[in-house]
Amino acid sequence: MRIILIGPPGAGKGTQCQRLVDLLHVPHLSTGEMLRAAVRAGTPEGLQAAAYMTQGQLVPDPIIVGMVSRRLEMEDCRNGCLLDGFPRTLPQAATLDELLERRAMSVDGVIELAVPRDELVRRMLARKREDDDPEVFAKRITSFELQTAPLLDYYARQGKLASIDGLGTAEEIFSRVQAAVGRFERAARRR
Ligand code: ADP
Repeated sequence: MRIILIGPPGAGKGTQCQRLVDLLHVPHLSTGEMLRAAVRAGTPEGLQAAAYMTQGQLVPDPIIVGMVSRRLEMEDCRNGCLLDGFPRTLPQAATLDELLERRAMSVDGVIELAVPRDELVRRMLARKREDDDPEVFAKRITSFELQTAPLLDYYARQGKLASIDGLGTAEEIFSRVQAAVGRFERAARRR
């Protein structure tokens, strides 16, 4: 299964991704994690990306696309992967389709974790991460609404979107995630 998890910052994608990779036995491709690792390692890509990340802006596509494409090339991604944080814009989604098509692969399903904005802010204040400055956080939510939310429509039109309620306990949300994966599996068998 090749699945994309989409949700605003603070939606709880990290928790659900961990459970999902255990269920699906596929690698977890988190562009946020890849970028933070590149920043820590001080690679040229990391140094370039850091300036955007600290301001809550999206990192330019050439950096992201290069990183994801190299990762998708790896052997462990052959039977599937869980994409987290990518694609984040319509051009990235189109690029992903091309990358996968060249390898005779496709996206099986997209899960949206829906959480209202006031709940996101409340959660952010309760946790602490280096890029969790309240002003920067607000920018990341706005960037999600403007640049990433249009992807939901893009995948809905392909019949690949499962929107699930991101409120509740991690267990409750995960059972919704599992139900969505079950629908993707049935749809994949029909193709
Ligand atoms: P969140 O989902 O909480 O915003 P992530 O860990 O996914 O956080 O990403 C952290 C930062 O890394 C983003 O704010 C952005 O600057 C950068 N980033 C991650 N993925 C992408 C992407 N696909 N395109 C552009 N920038 C990205």
